[in-house]
Amino acid sequence: MTETSGVMVLDPAFPTPRDGSAPEPHCQGPPRPLKSALLDAVPGVVHGITGRVPGLGAADGNVAYSAPRDRQDAWLMRQRWCAALGLDAARLAVLGQIHGAAVRKVGADDAGSGARPATDPAGYGDALISDEPGVVLMTLHADCLPLLLVDPDRPAVAAVHAGWRGTVADIAGATVAGMRRAFGSDPARLLGYIGPTIGPDCYEVGPEVAEAWLAVAPDGQASLRDTGSRPSFDLRRANRHLLAAAGLEPARIEVSSICTRHDGDAWFSHRGQGPATGRFGAIIALADRDGD
Ligand SMILES: [Zn+2]
Repeated sequence: MTETSGVMVLDPAFPTPRDGSAPEPHCQGPPRPLKSALLDAVPGVVHGITGRVPGLGAADGNVAYSAPRDRQDAWLMRQRWCAALGLDAARLAVLGQIHGAAVRKVGADDAGSGARPATDPAGYGDALISDEPGVVLMTLHADCLPLLLVDPDRPAVAAVHAGWRGTVADIAGATVAGMRRAFGSDPARLLGYIGPTIGPDCYEVGPEVAEAWLAVAPDGQASLRDTGSRPSFDLRRANRHLLAAAGLEPARIEVSSICTRHDGDAWFSHRGQGPATGRFGAIIALADRDGD
């Protein structure tokens, strides 16, 4: 503070301290994961996308363990987010994500793999598929696109992490093919939800990304936009394109319009907040059947 004419004024270099003891209003009660109306209508499937909640835990509700993050806090957050969905975080299956197109099938025996800090992941890859209750699938995101899939007939579910590398490797199509092989899923019956991701206005990429995209989707020009110096890449549109190419009905794909970078208060954004920011989780599970 500085003194001027006997009046104490706050030095603008020292912002008014916040009352750290006062709980933020949104910290009262459980956090609320985002849901897809399309998937929410499927009986026996539980899903949600966790977010960024300022003041929630030590890192705004982050659920990732990798350094420099506080693992115990992230484990607590996993439990809180899962509890908000009626799920048990100890039954999570989480992959070591590698920006590829590998699809991992998991079952109840894999529950807990990568769930708690310092446990081995449920393998390495960027898509999880399962037709068993008792395991909770989760992928981690900060701008990279979360995709959840449901086969309402088997039933079976999938959680997918698709940044530009996974997108140009067609992990969406690989996941549909994986569900077809493992569960006999009919692509035309699958339901898809593309959740919050970095929007096209915020996602300039290098020319090599545009080239790689057109190599996998020669008719996918609409997912690229020329912004002058560098192309921008529309991950949502690209993955919807890949899902349609894999046989999904366009009417059975819901696409969130949330841009994680624009809405950085509510979402972790690698581009907006830097690599040390947190991660949000895309979670899906089959509910335990009555009587089990
Ligand atoms: Zn944006």
